[in-house]
Amino acid sequence: MICVSIACGSHKRMISEHQSLADDGVRLVELRLDFLRNDPELDRLLTDRPTQVVVTARRPEDGGKWRDTEEKRQTVLRAAIAAGVDFVDLEEDIAPTIPRFGKTKRIVSFHDLDSTPEDLEAIYQRALQGDPDFIKIAVTPRNISDVFRLMTFTREKNENKPKIPMVGISMGEIGLASRILAKKFGCPFTYATFSESRTIAPGLLEYSKLRDFYRFGDIDRNTEVFGVIGDPIGHSLSPLIHNAGFAQKEMNRVYLPFRLPPEDLQEFIARAPEIGVRGISITIPHKVAAVDELTQFDPAVEEIGACNTMIFEGKERYGYNTDYVAAILSLEIALGGTGIAEQSPLIGKKALILGAGGAGKAVAYGLLQRTVKVTIADLDDERAFRLAEQLHCEYVDWDMRHAIPSNILVNCTPVGMHPKVNETPFDKAAMHQGMVVFDAVYNPENTLFLKNAKAKGCTAVSGVEMFIGQACMQFKLFTGAKGPAGLMRKLIKNAISAIHEDED
Ligand code: NAP
Repeated sequence: MICVSIACGSHKRMISEHQSLADDGVRLVELRLDFLRNDPELDRLLTDRPTQVVVTARRPEDGGKWRDTEEKRQTVLRAAIAAGVDFVDLEEDIAPTIPRFGKTKRIVSFHDLDSTPEDLEAIYQRALQGDPDFIKIAVTPRNISDVFRLMTFTREKNENKPKIPMVGISMGEIGLASRILAKKFGCPFTYATFSESRTIAPGLLEYSKLRDFYRFGDIDRNTEVFGVIGDPIGHSLSPLIHNAGFAQKEMNRVYLPFRLPPEDLQEFIARAPEIGVRGISITIPHKVAAVDELTQFDPAVEEIGACNTMIFEGKERYGYNTDYVAAILSLEIALGGTGIAEQSPLIGKKALILGAGGAGKAVAYGLLQRTVKVTIADLDDERAFRLAEQLHCEYVDWDMRHAIPSNILVNCTPVGMHPKVNETPFDKAAMHQGMVVFDAVYNPENTLFLKNAKAKGCTAVSGVEMFIGQACMQFKLFTGAKGPAGLMRKLIKNAISAIHEDED
């Protein structure tokens, strides 16, 4: 179940948000009395309440906003119990002094806003002294290992239908999985917020996103977990398209964003299967470092030196690179090809690739597989030189890129990407009719680079097709089923245009 926290300054607003949540089908609401500007009026809030209610009055040291005395806070909590509220949240240090009364169920809670204490068992044992019906432990992870520790502790405590179930929360963006996967770990409920625009606790998701986007209601102990690792990760469109694909095919799978700083990569890969992770997409800055963590890989991964998809199977970690296949297929389809190597319309062509990073490497590798004559340029000439040496192709100094004769031009730099949409890595004057111009950038879909190409009569190929192509191949690797390309395309185009409308 999702418990939606309402944190408003006024009673009137709290009552109206409560009603609107009830109308939207929410069955459990937490009223955060500590956010009220005036003394809490329990009668107003609890009489004729439209759903079951948790009453909470959180102290500042636990992440709340209670401004009055501690004595008054405890009086309010006792009054809520006397009024027969459905649930009351009592911190583990005060719970033993507030006796059980009537039908009110007790959530005995512990919060740590700085760290995840080493001895979670000691906290759990202290909470047990507070006569709980539920124990809630909400802590702050400093790294991914803290998140795994809390999640596996939660699962252990919720095994075999315990009398006192536990809700374990690893706060902040890094601990998001602990909230979304709460049911997989046996938690009776998880918390969400009425609106993400209101900050109540770090990492708290909006309830409608948890319900509709992550399909919280369908998650159970058997749900298979997938996700994308990167840093930053908030902008990634992969959760949108993979979750929609799982939903469309009614699969018991969920796809999460994992914000992962580089120093946490090894630990994540080693322990991800412990929390049910079966496969991951890999993005900046982990594509290269991830190769060292594989036990089995596609030859392309070794040659490109970058992996964007990992599958966990027993002790094995299989690595793939779906970027290069998707890029080549996008180009071939734009030229009337079908993806059959021997009949590729790319054979014998000359390509100039701008950018020698992850995407540049993948595209160069793919084009070389099709016997295209490849030249690489990067703002960092040395990087272009090294890649050309590694792949046995040509390179050109960045300043000389317009002088290279080519009939395929590919942008694999981030130039032109949102929000710097008025930039292009190549002069329009050097483009010519008959050229195929491909931009790996997919946000915006119609970059200045592509607009110029169209204006010069070139065939323009957008990064959206590559993005969908690589995602469909990942979907197939994750599930064995064909990726829903049409659905993914629609969602990506809508999401990209929404970003740009927001700014207009
Ligand atoms: P990357 O590994 O950072 O490589 C980008 C390369 O471009 C780096 O060598 C970078 O140099 C260089 N560069 C940066 N700014 C430049 C500039 N102003 N002029 C010339 N070169 C510049 O990134 P990536 O993973 O290859 O991604 C590149 C672009 O492709 C991104 O926009 C990404 O979103 C897109 N992409 C799209 C897909 C898709 O499916 N459509 C897949 C992968 C990537 P420095 O490192 O020195 O900055």
